Amino acid sequence: MVQLRRQICGSFLNQLQPNIRWSSSLQIRDKKVIQPERSFRFADLSVRLAGPERLQPKPDVKNLTFGKYFTDHMLKIFYHEALGGWQAPEIVPFENLVLHPASKVLHYAIQLFEGLKAFRGVDGKIRMFRPDMNMSRMNSSAMRLGLPTFSGEELVKCCNRLIGIDQEWVPHSTASSLYLRPTMIGIDPTLGVASSESALLYVILSPVGSYFKASEAKDGVSLLADPRYTRAWPGGCGNYKVGSNYGPTIYVQREAVERGLQQVLWLYGEDDEVTEAGTMNIFMFCINDDGEKELITPPLTSSLILPGVTRDSILGLAREWNQFKVTERKFCMSEVCHLLSENRLLELFGAGTACIVSPVSYVEYAGRSLHIPTMTHSNPVYKMFLNRLTDIQYGVVPDHPWMITIE
Ligand SMILES: *Cc1c(COP(=O)(O)O)cnc(C)c1O
Repeated sequence: MVQLRRQICGSFLNQLQPNIRWSSSLQIRDKKVIQPERSFRFADLSVRLAGPERLQPKPDVKNLTFGKYFTDHMLKIFYHEALGGWQAPEIVPFENLVLHPASKVLHYAIQLFEGLKAFRGVDGKIRMFRPDMNMSRMNSSAMRLGLPTFSGEELVKCCNRLIGIDQEWVPHSTASSLYLRPTMIGIDPTLGVASSESALLYVILSPVGSYFKASEAKDGVSLLADPRYTRAWPGGCGNYKVGSNYGPTIYVQREAVERGLQQVLWLYGEDDEVTEAGTMNIFMFCINDDGEKELITPPLTSSLILPGVTRDSILGLAREWNQFKVTERKFCMSEVCHLLSENRLLELFGAGTACIVSPVSYVEYAGRSLHIPTMTHSNPVYKMFLNRLTDIQYGVVPDHPWMITIE
């Protein structure tokens, strides 16, 4: 029945939308503010479970390639301006999407995504890490793309239910977790470069192990810093998690791999400002000009930097520990080289949900080989952050306010 109604309604919309220009009075979205009161609601969630014949075998936790396996169910929420906005959320068996070939997402990259994780704690309880942060970032990406906003709390409740249904997919291991990939796409079947009046928000779940191979975790990652390329610029979208930021990086990533390096260190501007490493925020730990230890990461004041949840958590922990100076400021490759030459560059590391914390051991920059001593210290700060964050995530630290328990 639901299926049938969807088909009818879908074809009705397909016929309607190319022919009608909505008057401004029908514009129910305000482009400048999040409108949680216009949201879908968890209370309207319907659930259709996969039959036993459709359930997939669970992969061995030792062989989890990032984002390769998906659980048995997914969450789908449609938005149709012509039907009054957000429709009721549905949990359905994991399935392919059917899209009109003119769907805006396929032409103009009207797409945004999030990445967060649920962990099976040492006490057996499943918890999500700071989902509220991902929800507000998702809403800010939606606004930037002219997609509809929603109540983050309602989406977290729906995700909670989805994880509950697929809970056996949350790995029984403190080296693995369940990755959530909320996504929103503009699905108007019209080629105009204009805001999409239909959208689909969906959430899929993938059990994941470590993002990096064991050797990379042990030896640190190597980076290519090539000033010819940049991923973001002032006034651009580098501070939003939108798909269009990532496609164009593949070419540069391949160049890094061809030179025997693992990731790209993204630079910006004439002075080769250090911005991000791959899809991670970057941190530098050094001895500053006053002889003090200082942790430095680029600030969120320009649109060059993605406001990472891991970044925010590391800054929070560092300020709470109060063992060294913590600064959000711009730094350039010249400073990295200078500190390194004076043996004052102690550590360089990336931070993001997928890898948590990833030490950097080598950077190739303008024909120079920079050996970064991150891995050579007995008690490196990157490891302190990694250990503390995993203790929080796997419930070793009890009842941490960052963790939301799945009922
Ligand atoms: C997702 C992402 C990060 C890390 O953000 P988290 O919320 O910590 O996962 C950093 N940089 C880029 C470019 C990203 O896409």
